[in-house]
Amino acid sequence: LEERVLFSYDAATFRQVPELVVMPRSEEDVIQTVQFARKYHIPISPRGAGTGMSGGAIPNPGAMIIGFERMNRIWEINQIEKYAVVEPGVLTGDLQEKVLEMGLFYPPDPSSYLVSTLGGNIAEGAGGLRCAKYGVTKNYVLGLRVVTMLGEVITTGALAEDPRFPDLTPLFIGSEGTLGIVTIIVLRLIKAPECTQTMLAFFPTGTDAAEAVSTILKERLLPSVMEFLDRMTLKAITGYVPLEIPEQAEAMLLIEVDGSEADIKEQLPLVMECCQGCQGFQMLQASEAKKRNRLWELRRSVSPSLARLASGKINEDVCVPRGEMIRLVEACQELSKHTGLMIPVYGHAADGNLHVNVMYDRNNQDQIDQAQFAVEQVFQKTLELGGTLSGEHGIGRTKRDYLPMQFSPYYIECFRQIKQVWDPEGLMNPGVMYPLENSAENT
Ligand SMILES: Cc1cc2nc3c(=O)[nH]c(=O)nc-3n(C[C@H](O)[C@H](O)[C@H](O)COP(=O)(O)OP(=O)(O)OC[C@H]3O[C@@H](n4cnc5c(N)ncnc54)[C@H](O)[C@@H]3O)c2cc1C
Repeated sequence: LEERVLFSYDAATFRQVPELVVMPRSEEDVIQTVQFARKYHIPISPRGAGTGMSGGAIPNPGAMIIGFERMNRIWEINQIEKYAVVEPGVLTGDLQEKVLEMGLFYPPDPSSYLVSTLGGNIAEGAGGLRCAKYGVTKNYVLGLRVVTMLGEVITTGALAEDPRFPDLTPLFIGSEGTLGIVTIIVLRLIKAPECTQTMLAFFPTGTDAAEAVSTILKERLLPSVMEFLDRMTLKAITGYVPLEIPEQAEAMLLIEVDGSEADIKEQLPLVMECCQGCQGFQMLQASEAKKRNRLWELRRSVSPSLARLASGKINEDVCVPRGEMIRLVEACQELSKHTGLMIPVYGHAADGNLHVNVMYDRNNQDQIDQAQFAVEQVFQKTLELGGTLSGEHGIGRTKRDYLPMQFSPYYIECFRQIKQVWDPEGLMNPGVMYPLENSAENT
């Protein structure tokens, strides 16, 4: 039991101890496990590192976990064609480090990259800090091998036996382990940038910071990172980081520019000019790793600092068009006044993916209700602004019940029918993403 408890949680709030945990070493082991599960009608939840923020790796009662810790081999890194063939349990950071030694780059970088797996990244459609310039996980998946609930292996994209048929790769990216189990991944690699420079700027208002983001993008500059921190987030990290946060700062941008030395020489001063033009002040920049790390500490300290603010935190990763970002931040500030709860907002400004954190006291029913109300209001506002409920953390168990706010019954029925084709008995990660009428969830 003690060992199974280790598989009962992820970074969301759900807990469920699995009935069984299987740790395959090969695709053949996965096939046999699936056949066993099907024979005894046992639901399956695939699991990478369990860092998911939407409860996607949490099993249903009585279900089995297939954990990918032992399928963590890098089979091939092809320097000429620039691709890597890996198993799903490889940690994102491990692949990044390995390819960098060869002058290559795997850009998708969820903040959890040191501990999350590539299988989990694909299943969640993970984003990350560098997505503004380089895109997200889906932009780097060339092909997959997938074991279906029928115990069959299908190959997609670069691995497909016949490229004349439609490429099914995108179907599995972001499918949260509900359609099939990924056993082999082919990833696109690119040439590593020669150098990187980091800078940060404080702003007197959140609107100024958002304006700076728009100006930078309008000028067709392309920083690799543009992270936004609002006033409440800055307050939370004050005193927790080695840098002084100016009192008059209401927002901050952490920006990174990479490429050749010439690219940086050209782009960085222009990016700084854009920030200055939008009232940016106390700007700092660093090129050396140690100094860059000092600037990054501001961003990295956000999660642990917020955890000190209250015993409960709901972290939503809504995404709005970039031009609407500030309206969402303002709506969260209003909501904070209205509910009396702290609602710090930070996130990946360059793609409008904001992390809205609703802080509450877990032992106070009134605050729990207010937090739930606040989350619904955030979703409502996000959709009004033309956004989407999840930018990168997935729907999982946490947002499943909110899907009808974004999709009509017809859409949801279409999603259900796709699942029905791949998983007719509803045994593949039931309860995640959408409830199925015939799902084992109900048994
Ligand atoms: C501190 C922190 C920071 C984070 N920052 C980011 C961020 O910047 N961007 C971002 O996108 N996410 C972020 N996340 C969320 C999380 O790290 C990502 O969603 C990550 O992709 C999950 O990977 P994992 O290996 O932990 O997967 P798990 O949590 O184990 O599983 C996630 C989903 O993948 C499915 N799955 C796992 N392996 C397979 C497989 N082989 N086949 C089919 N399905 C599979 C599971 O069933 C589940 O639905 C963060 C999380 C934390 C804790």
